Amino acid sequence: LHNRQLFMQHLAAPAEVPDALEIVRSEGVFLYDKEGHRFIDLVSGVSVSNVGHRHPKVISAIEDQLKKYLHLMVYGKYIQSPQVKLAGLITSKLPNNLQSVFFVNSGSEAIEGALKLAKRVTGRSEIVAFKNAYHGSTHGALSVLGNEEMKYAYRPLLPEIKMLNFNKLEDLEKITTKTAAVIIEPIQAEAGILIPDEEYMIALRKTCDETGSLLIFDEVQMGFGRTGKLFAFEHFDVAPDILCLAKGMGGGMPIGAFVSSKEHMLTLTHNPALGHITTFGGHPVSCAAALASLEVIIEDRLYEKANEKGILFKTKIKKHSIVDHIRQIGLMLGVELKDGYSVSKLIKILQKNGLIVDQFLFNNTSFRIAPPLTINEDEIELSIEKVINSLDSFY
Ligand code: PMP
Repeated sequence: LHNRQLFMQHLAAPAEVPDALEIVRSEGVFLYDKEGHRFIDLVSGVSVSNVGHRHPKVISAIEDQLKKYLHLMVYGKYIQSPQVKLAGLITSKLPNNLQSVFFVNSGSEAIEGALKLAKRVTGRSEIVAFKNAYHGSTHGALSVLGNEEMKYAYRPLLPEIKMLNFNKLEDLEKITTKTAAVIIEPIQAEAGILIPDEEYMIALRKTCDETGSLLIFDEVQMGFGRTGKLFAFEHFDVAPDILCLAKGMGGGMPIGAFVSSKEHMLTLTHNPALGHITTFGGHPVSCAAALASLEVIIEDRLYEKANEKGILFKTKIKKHSIVDHIRQIGLMLGVELKDGYSVSKLIKILQKNGLIVDQFLFNNTSFRIAPPLTINEDEIELSIEKVINSLDSFY
């Protein structure tokens, strides 16, 4: 059987993709299919390939680690150099209350860990979350996801979940001394790139302090330079009690983490112990790749350049007559089309023209541009030209 037939017949999938590409190679911002077509990746595998596909330093770190060891033992039992060095580097970039890293496998697992940690630290069970938030697909993450259509078929989910409107000050009064945690994306991604007011974020922090609720930031999609800062919360004068990371963390390898204070984390270690167990969490090859990727992001100051690059995209594309407006922060853009223009139709045209873009889960009137942060000026110009040509072909 051909790969396409195997894909259709034997690969369980969350949605139908009748025109799925078969990619055989990737490099930098480019993907190549079986027929030799080249595509510019303006999605980064959904905010994963922040240092580009197969960055040489990431590949070399992976190769070095392959010569030493793969999986040795369940997470947390042995001292593994890539893991502890990565924890050291991440925490060196974080505030004093975020100095203990729990490595896991994915964004969803980071969310699960964060929710469990908040329950242990506070002894409470109510969780406050936000409409149009995406946090993952496991039962806990799904419980705090802010879209009923994706949830209703799986109830009962976690009890005592309160959903607030994002960036609405009045709603903060629903956070009380019963609330274990407030979980929020400091910039909402799947809602279509929504940036809250700094005043709101400060009020949120204050409310959590007053009620003794832990503030969880989900930076699974927005962390590691995507927004123009190493971490998205640096845009606001607030820090979380727990930070969730994944996606762009691994330089293309699967890894996630939740980060908090040592004191908080000890609640998972004692009485009862084994508060979160993970076999593959912080896999040594993933950690080696993540360490190399983070070093590249820091040394090349990729986050600083992300905003200039994002503005290049924004300035040119927003002038097009069928673009209504663009929401942009760093190299993360939500391009909103005017009424009557179909995003899914446009995405097909873009793909035909050699561009990979993506839709948002909770906003069907805009599309996402989020290329690797390593994209250079020529590649940006070429991408913009292709986007404009594709938009033109709607006439
Ligand atoms: N949180 C956010 C903000 C995300 O964007 C995602 C993935 N799209 C997740 C959590 C879940 O991550 P994963 O798919 O690795 O479980």
